[in-house]
Amino acid sequence: MEKSIAVVTGASRGIGAAIAQSLLEAGYFVVASATSDKGVQAIKEKLGENGTAYVLNLSDKDSCQEFCKQATEFGPVAVLVNNAGITKDTLMLRMKDDDWDSVIETNLSGAFRITKGMLKGMMKKRFGRIINISSIVGTMGNPGQANYCASKAGIEGFTRSLAQELGSRNITVNAVAPGFIATDMTDELTEEQKNVMLVNIPMARLGQPEEIAKTVKFLASDDAAYITGQVLHVNGGLNMG
Ligand code: NAP
Repeated sequence: MEKSIAVVTGASRGIGAAIAQSLLEAGYFVVASATSDKGVQAIKEKLGENGTAYVLNLSDKDSCQEFCKQATEFGPVAVLVNNAGITKDTLMLRMKDDDWDSVIETNLSGAFRITKGMLKGMMKKRFGRIINISSIVGTMGNPGQANYCASKAGIEGFTRSLAQELGSRNITVNAVAPGFIATDMTDELTEEQKNVMLVNIPMARLGQPEEIAKTVKFLASDDAAYITGQVLHVNGGLNMG
């Protein structure tokens, strides 16, 4: 039987790597991305014959177009996970135009471009699962992250709008909003910042990338067929309600 295709952006490390692995184990052929040839090679070695990877820079329109072309060569994409994201944290008064633009371009406009590139095939097939990786701070806000929080609040609005546009085509669109997950992104925090965070997490620990991957796998599965336009929070209780 031909395998369904799942696309995961930013799968070279962290949450994206765990999502790619989990979708591979669920039986998908996984098309993944990294920003460098070295990253692409490492992903290919991990995925083996049931996946492949290409270079993608979400802040570059041509790169997005090329990636969409490569990814859809295998046939219509069943599952798209817009995972890749960056931070460029600084307080508002120090935030440069470039800090703002690159985060919005990568986290929000990039997801728009990749989604658009995968959509025709999904609509034709009348099936699709689009899963956008947001963040707890898209809801809560966070000092020093005005650019990042705006990009994540944006991706949640994008999710709800697309869910309304595409529901009748049997395409669900949801977001997963992780709390603090142990990856390179949170490694950048100081011990002091981590300790302050842990005090406020009822589960008293950081999450693991695999815990986000399991949520994504659920949203991609038949069990989630009637869930659309939702933001699923996976944060150890850091933000409730
Ligand atoms: P990470 O470890 O920093 O990995 C980021 C991934 O994105 C890498 O694969 C990276 O590729 C790729 N990437 C970076 N810049 C890119 C660009 N311009 N174009 C395309 N790909 C690019 O991040 P993570 O912690 O796993 O986060 C994954 C997602 O979860 C992000 O959307 C993030 O905002 C969200 N999230 C994370 C946390 C957390 O606590 N970690 C919490 C909430 C939300 P290279 O390896 O080639 O650089």
